[in-house]
Amino acid sequence: MKPSATTVATIAALGLSVRSTAAAGGRTVDRLYVLQCGEVHAPDQSRWSPGVNVGKPIVNSDNCYLIRHGEDWLLWDTGYNDDYAGKPDGTKNGDSVVFRKESLAAELAALRLKPADVRYVAISHMHPDHTGNVDLFPTSTIVMQRVEYDAIMALPKPPFKPDHSVLTLAGDWDVFGDGSVTILSTPGHTVGHESLFVRLKKTGAVVLSGDAVHFKDNWDNRRVPSINFDKEMTLASMQRLADVMAQNHAQLWINHDKAQSDAQRHSPEFYD
Ligand SMILES: [Zn+2]
Repeated sequence: MKPSATTVATIAALGLSVRSTAAAGGRTVDRLYVLQCGEVHAPDQSRWSPGVNVGKPIVNSDNCYLIRHGEDWLLWDTGYNDDYAGKPDGTKNGDSVVFRKESLAAELAALRLKPADVRYVAISHMHPDHTGNVDLFPTSTIVMQRVEYDAIMALPKPPFKPDHSVLTLAGDWDVFGDGSVTILSTPGHTVGHESLFVRLKKTGAVVLSGDAVHFKDNWDNRRVPSINFDKEMTLASMQRLADVMAQNHAQLWINHDKAQSDAQRHSPEFYD
């Protein structure tokens, strides 16, 4: 049923420690799918790495991630809008060109899923390469930090309609209450940016970066892009992710790192 009005439920920070769930063993999700939600060809890498590789073109992946937890599905980010899909020459977007092979709707359909099957659509942050298809999920619950949601709704043209059911957070959140999926508050790239910690049985623990970092070289060198809300907050969030990874022996999956993304299994294959 489509919600008739905005439902905003706020969950305050739980003081949740990702380390404590690790110590307890932590439950795992069943599957994690990597979906290709776009690709951006940009003329100058230094937008993301000030002073480094100035004028050198870069191709960034743009992933979405779909998680199965028992009967529930959680989608992490929605990528570029499906209108970009199926255009072999791409679509000009400022000084960049955006490609999207298949629509998100088609990628879900290939898994025999409908948008209504997705219980939670959790969004790392407001930018259009992450929020392009939120309106495809009118019956899902959108999950994001409260300050990010408020900032989105204050935009002249919000990337999605205000009539979604929304769960707004003020910090971390253990999504299924068993430590298998935890939203991590990692502000800095935007005011209420968040990342996702996921436990898998065979693969182990994974941190999905959102845009806390854009590619591995920036991670290794702790670089912050010029388009960024607060540099010190971003650096603190990167350190926080490094600590969570060390405590949980977790891998870092960087959404926009094309080399890493190309080496990964893509839907309909999955990680378990
Ligand atoms: Zn992005």
